[in-house]
Amino acid sequence: MTSLFDRHKAVTPEWLALYYGEPIELTHGEGRHVWDAEGRKYLDFFGGILTTMTAHALPEVTKAVSEQAGRLIHSSTLYLNRPMVELAERIATLSGIPDARVFFTTSGTEANDTALLLATAYRRSNQILAMRNSYHGRSFSAVSITGNRAWSPTSLSPLQTLYVHGGVRSRGPYAHLSDAQFIEACVTDLRDLLGHTREAAALIAEPIQGVGGFTSPPDGLYAAFREVLAERGILWISDEVQTGWGRTGDHFWGWQAHAASGPPDVLTFAKGIGNGTSIGGVVARAEVMNCLDANSISTFGGSPVTMAAGNANLAYLLEHDLQGNARRVGGLLIERLRAIGAQSPAVREVRGRGLMLGIELVKPGTDEADPQAAAAVLEAAREGGLLIGKGGGHDTSVLRIAPPLTLTVAEAEEGASIIERALRAL
Ligand code: PMP
Repeated sequence: MTSLFDRHKAVTPEWLALYYGEPIELTHGEGRHVWDAEGRKYLDFFGGILTTMTAHALPEVTKAVSEQAGRLIHSSTLYLNRPMVELAERIATLSGIPDARVFFTTSGTEANDTALLLATAYRRSNQILAMRNSYHGRSFSAVSITGNRAWSPTSLSPLQTLYVHGGVRSRGPYAHLSDAQFIEACVTDLRDLLGHTREAAALIAEPIQGVGGFTSPPDGLYAAFREVLAERGILWISDEVQTGWGRTGDHFWGWQAHAASGPPDVLTFAKGIGNGTSIGGVVARAEVMNCLDANSISTFGGSPVTMAAGNANLAYLLEHDLQGNARRVGGLLIERLRAIGAQSPAVREVRGRGLMLGIELVKPGTDEADPQAAAAVLEAAREGGLLIGKGGGHDTSVLRIAPPLTLTVAEAEEGASIIERALRAL
């Protein structure tokens, strides 16, 4: 009998990569656990790429989805949609953006695509500033602002993109500087760049780079950038697809680590809000959101079923203070991982905040990325009953840990012990 893996390979693109030498089929989940088709149970520290935000099979979300599906699955944006308006109201308030308007899409890519459409139309410029080592999605416009070779399959672009320093603290030409000097150097570089170029439409940045390996600048960098951008009317787009909804513990949005600047002009979100149902979206102040002079719709964006899921999921998150849980449990977990990392010559850095933690692996005694070690630890963790992710720059050498935000202290401890054993086995 042909295996599911063989059937997968026969009908899907080669570039649709699967994790593990022997990929697994997940058949069900509950809380922070998932089961594969062979009945093996795993602790889930990746949540389907930071998307199962609260928990697997959260009864509140399941109930909201099934009740809405039983009433009406689809109506389109041509008709009034109560669950959509309700979620938009909540997100507008939470965003911190004054006079905010919300547009729903079905993915993070499409959210960023919309942000780029808005910014370029508003500013009448197709020049975009993006960060080196960034990832913003898979569409033609999103890959053209992706500063990560591994995820840029084409150099053709509808945009003129300039890549800015600062998203990666511990590598690159400014790594040796203090935080304050690092920020100053990046700001000086940005000013210099802007002095040589046309008027840019916007800067787009992930407050913590996700696919790039959970790297971030010192707190305050984007506030400092904001001052320079504001002098020229350049918009700031914060891509909160991974950093939103309290995952970082200290803040509800990643941009709040740069709060001196106030909120961004445009904020994009996706992943966690739907807990696995396909919700993405853009928030912008009315003046920017309303600048388009033609119609625009997303047939599936704001679908009643996904909006019902989003409302139930967000209510659960807020009522149970999962941001606080991410801060508390994430704080314990990073301490434990730092102690484990200090014992392993392959660990260069343990970083991140809240429940968004990265372990960067190198060839011992060097600064050279070690993607083979990352792949080996991923396999060993799976053998031990733990699912984690990987990412990072040009070489995929960073282990990514991003469990559902309901993670308990006991589960954090269990996962850390499995990672410890997997690193020892290297
Ligand atoms: N922005 C960021 C920061 C992301 O991490 C991702 C997905 N990894 C995207 C955008 C694209 O989202 P999607 O895959 O839903 O299109």
